[in-house]
Amino acid sequence: MPNTITLGTATAQPGTIQYGRWEALNHPTGHVEFLPVIIAQGTADGPCLWLTAGIHGVEHAGPLVIYRLITQELVDHLRGTIVAIPALNPAGLRTMKREPYHADKDPNRMWPDGKPKKSYDPDKEPPSSLEKAYERLFETMAATANYLIDYHNAWTNSISFAFRDRLLYRADQDADRHKAEAEALSARQFEMVKAYGHTILADFPADKYIDEDLHRSTSAATLLLKGIPSFTPELGTGHMPDPAIVAASAAGTRNVMRWAGMLDGALEPIEGIKIVDRGFPVRRCSTPRVPDACIVEHLVQSGDLVQIGDPVAKMRDVWGRPVGDGLLRSEYDGFVIGRSHGIYHYAGDAVLGTAIRDDAALVAPYPPEYFK
Ligand SMILES: [Zn+2]
Repeated sequence: MPNTITLGTATAQPGTIQYGRWEALNHPTGHVEFLPVIIAQGTADGPCLWLTAGIHGVEHAGPLVIYRLITQELVDHLRGTIVAIPALNPAGLRTMKREPYHADKDPNRMWPDGKPKKSYDPDKEPPSSLEKAYERLFETMAATANYLIDYHNAWTNSISFAFRDRLLYRADQDADRHKAEAEALSARQFEMVKAYGHTILADFPADKYIDEDLHRSTSAATLLLKGIPSFTPELGTGHMPDPAIVAASAAGTRNVMRWAGMLDGALEPIEGIKIVDRGFPVRRCSTPRVPDACIVEHLVQSGDLVQIGDPVAKMRDVWGRPVGDGLLRSEYDGFVIGRSHGIYHYAGDAVLGTAIRDDAALVAPYPPEYFK
């Protein structure tokens, strides 16, 4: 018999899909913000996969992947349990804003960071109600999840891809053991991301990753603090989801479930989307940037391969005359993840998100002062 799992008012029942509410926080108007919970459980024993989405209010593809994926037909073939939360940030989804109006911080940088609790300081803003809710939810995740996928959207018209997180380990007296564990987890995460079958790239190198609080994202927190293989798919345009990407992400998720032993059968082909593999590991980079204020006309599309020196955009002034020699060129070999929005750019603005060769370590120690 599969395990009993309860989250809020939903309790797993073998062979069924259960729906419920998890109370997250109180609004001052007396309303309670709940997170919707879906628990789908097969009749056979198996792992527990968490699927989360909607933490950024403008990113609407992930919830659709969850709704498309979780059907009675799936449950009839399922070994184990899916716990899904399609709206981690209901306020942001209602207002189509990245951040909720009741917490002035990126919610995907709110998950626990593993640091010791700070002592109370009346002059410091305490964590928001949402951050405290995530802290409680994180404990249930950690206690029940064997795997986690947290769906996002990158930018308008970007390609569908999966982020492979960096693994950080504590460089204390047990550093060798921590490093070996982190390397094993990184290898397992890579297997999971490969099973998903979309384009794969790493995020920023470890120091910038911490700088940007990316280690406090949903998938990074479960991965780094709880050792749960997790990743973040980025599903192209957020405010108008691409049905082909939604379908390909549902197929990729079923492939992850086959890899995890939750479904039988061969991996499904991933169709209808661009999948790019340069044959070397890549990471995201905001490049190239315009040297002067100008108006940009992109010469490349998302998914296009670029070589060093290839023209990627025309640069003009407001009268249409060339700025400099009129061309912006790629500084790297790689491929285009997506183009920056709009055509009017100030000096130093990045014109593309480009996937470039990843020379940075996938497994790196936390900075020496991190846990102080
Ligand atoms: Zn996002």
